[in-house]
Amino acid sequence: MWKDLEISVCRCDSGQRREKPDQGNLGFGSYFTDHMFLMKWSRKDGWHDAEICPYQDFSMDPAAMVYHYGQAIFEGLKAYKGDDNQIYMFRPEDNLERMNGSALRMCMPRIPVETVLKAIKALVYLDRDWIPTGDGATLYLRPTMIAVEPALGVRPSEHYYFFVIMSPVGAYYAEGFNPTKIWVTDKYVRAVKGGVGHVKTAGNYAASIMAAEEAHRAGYTQVLWLDACEHKYVEEVGTSNIFFRIDDELITPPLGGSILGGITRDSVIQLAKSWGIAVTERQVAIDEVLSAIEDGSLKESFGSGTAAVIAPIGELCYQEKKYVVADGKTGELSQRLFEELQAIQNGKREDPFRWVVRIG
Ligand SMILES: *Cc1c(COP(=O)(O)O)cnc(C)c1O
Repeated sequence: MWKDLEISVCRCDSGQRREKPDQGNLGFGSYFTDHMFLMKWSRKDGWHDAEICPYQDFSMDPAAMVYHYGQAIFEGLKAYKGDDNQIYMFRPEDNLERMNGSALRMCMPRIPVETVLKAIKALVYLDRDWIPTGDGATLYLRPTMIAVEPALGVRPSEHYYFFVIMSPVGAYYAEGFNPTKIWVTDKYVRAVKGGVGHVKTAGNYAASIMAAEEAHRAGYTQVLWLDACEHKYVEEVGTSNIFFRIDDELITPPLGGSILGGITRDSVIQLAKSWGIAVTERQVAIDEVLSAIEDGSLKESFGSGTAAVIAPIGELCYQEKKYVVADGKTGELSQRLFEELQAIQNGKREDPFRWVVRIG
């Protein structure tokens, strides 16, 4: 029944159009476009009622399971206008495949990747006037699946909604490509092997807020998470993956159940390898990082994720001691990766990995 899932399109009439925000002040995720994609799943009928429709509220039973036990998964990806004025997306299929990995772990139904990709392309094209044109500004897409069956038992829901909403977002580095200050927490943990840290499910982010608040109060931008068992090995930074360049080796923690497999992480690994850089996926103890800072072998460190692409790290604070990374400046490799990824995304440079998908 998925194969012939038809996508109907119901366009806004002029009265339903939303006011476009000021391009210079978009922020992140504050404005949403005219249309959305929605489809529904039931155990009986599978996916059905797929439609591109005007952006709208849901009316939902207060007993809907998502409100109580958090069966919710999501993705984050971008569409943007290239310098040639064409519309592009970066590895969208990988996001949808990853969502199916999340669905499996959360006992939610698989989405039909091809159909959803088709819907996403049509949606982006329909709302193409919403794609911001400023340097670094993009249209951020948020595919989401939630359990909507009204029932209070803890078990898989019999009904789900899958939807995609889109938000024009400003350049992540509006004030330039600046290194961030990172708070290493040995009090809170993000994820544990056997848990759900490797999937994009809502509860992970709810659980992370308290540590982020603590970091902000101390004057830091993001939290660096250590492993949940020993508080010893580095896992991720905020909602990004993390990389260290120690001497001439680029190191990132391995995917092993508690770390989210970032698409940017994978792109960085492939790109760096193609430049002849030695990339190693292995466990990195926080003590190794700190001594590499002290003896000067840690050349640079950065986070990777869709929102920022590359986020250089300028300082770590661990157990009340501050450690300056790369003189507090953006490292050479961070800069090169950032520029190369952005250039590939914007169609300015060749795309040897065939990551970029043209829309329209
Ligand atoms: C989304 C996310 C990432 C980055 O993944 P990308 O696909 O590169 O955007 C890293 N860590 C966490 C916890 C995430 O939620």
